[in-house]
Amino acid sequence: MSLTKYVAKRRFDDTPEPKGKKIAAGEKLVFTIQRHHASHLHYDFRLELDGVLKSWAVPKGPSLNPSDKRLAMMVEDHPKDYATFEGDIPQGNYGAGHVDVWDHGTYEPIDEDGNVITAKEFAHNLHAGSIKFRMKGKKLKGDFALVNMKKDEKTWLLIKHRDKYATDEAYNSEDYAKKSSLAYTEERNARKKSVKKK
Ligand code: MN
Repeated sequence: MSLTKYVAKRRFDDTPEPKGKKIAAGEKLVFTIQRHHASHLHYDFRLELDGVLKSWAVPKGPSLNPSDKRLAMMVEDHPKDYATFEGDIPQGNYGAGHVDVWDHGTYEPIDEDGNVITAKEFAHNLHAGSIKFRMKGKKLKGDFALVNMKKDEKTWLLIKHRDKYATDEAYNSEDYAKKSSLAYTEERNARKKSVKKK
């Protein structure tokens, strides 16, 4: 897995994002979910595998309600040190806007029956278009699946499994966003409105 696309899309003299070097795998695999208000608000869902972060953009954000099937568009691999990145990507750059970490923790790759599997088996499942994993975050806990929609390589669905962490209540990830994230969006929307009025 390579960071070629990640590097090609960015100008590192103008964006505070990490340049990205492959970092040796730690004991546990990490995940991060970043709330990213770029041209459109979305959540970036990233799972460490083979020294990089496999990444999906989830427009509606993740959900703990198993009846929600959240569209997840696969995007380029990101470097592992992107997991803690927060800040403003300046106008004119790829993904210009504000990034905050929404949730961060470790995960375990699991099989169909919920048994922990190796990263190698997980990579195989990813290639086959269907992965399951157990999240140990502050907000996201328990078992999830990401399933490729077969119509193309990029279109996946993110689904919560029914377990003790699941909820039947409506789940809106924005309800759990940081105040700073929401303030950025509010300020940006207000600016847009005032521009329209002129
Ligand atoms: Mn993004």
